[in-house]
Amino acid sequence: MSSPFQSCPASNTAQAKVQQRKLQQSVCSASLVSKIPPKGVSSAVFLKSNMWPKHQELLIKFVDGEPWRKAWVEKVVMENLQPHVGLTLNFTDSSNEAHITVSFASARASSLIGKDSIQDVPSMYLGWVDPPHGSFEWKGETYAVPEDEHRNSGFDNGATVIHEFGHALGMLHEHQNPRGKPIIWNDENVWDTFCGPPNKWDWATIQHNVIDALDINTTNGSNFDPQSVMIYGFPGALTKNMPNGIQPNPNLSRGDTNWLRKTYPKEGSVWLSESYAMEPAFDIDLRNYIALNILVVIGFIIIYKVCFVE
Ligand SMILES: [Zn+2]
Repeated sequence: MSSPFQSCPASNTAQAKVQQRKLQQSVCSASLVSKIPPKGVSSAVFLKSNMWPKHQELLIKFVDGEPWRKAWVEKVVMENLQPHVGLTLNFTDSSNEAHITVSFASARASSLIGKDSIQDVPSMYLGWVDPPHGSFEWKGETYAVPEDEHRNSGFDNGATVIHEFGHALGMLHEHQNPRGKPIIWNDENVWDTFCGPPNKWDWATIQHNVIDALDINTTNGSNFDPQSVMIYGFPGALTKNMPNGIQPNPNLSRGDTNWLRKTYPKEGSVWLSESYAMEPAFDIDLRNYIALNILVVIGFIIIYKVCFVE
């Protein structure tokens, strides 16, 4: 397939230049070893075929990196993701093979999706890790952060680390979620923008990472969640239905954490399920069920009093 614009040239229009200035963030390129049909109509989106087994211990290993960088990534993952999943995320230096392998030796951020991570080393690149200014503490040690570290969109909480490890747990890009009221793209402006710096993607990559909607049959998730940490930030000109655009989000949204808990339930959790087929959302159904039962009981009390007590 080739681009409708062939060479996918950057536009010379003033509008596109404004868009590019607004989009001075380097975005993640999630990639799949397993091929899935990307087209279709699905807040967090998980690729069902790539989920890790429930209660699995995941060994995570760095293949390079300075001590402060590795400590920062471990801190971000253990404080932000581990509390929500019934998996054991274990950073290790052992020589044994790991499930997720991380390299910092790249100018990009990317990750394989879920179980695909075991198919390549490294499975994740973290070209930037959005560290705090100054220093941070982890496991009783204080680590100094170099002053010139890149922070995507100015975030200093490890937003990119959370996003990439979201992919490693099976999460896909929220802006490609087809459920609810998804984004309607202005394709031409999307191509123009992502052809340009800092991403410089070709047309097929832009289609894969931005425009193509995910398949509702191969993914789990709830309605489109603009607060998800798995979404890119977009100026409004790239869409036809969101004039104010979408801001990138540095933290897991409530939808993200809900679906992480449902997908990887802890022992004894109310989310425990034998199946990953989790629609509609169980918490909403349960609330409705309880409310209906309360109304039925109140109705019986009223009928009893009217008919028998008087
Ligand atoms: Zn991503």
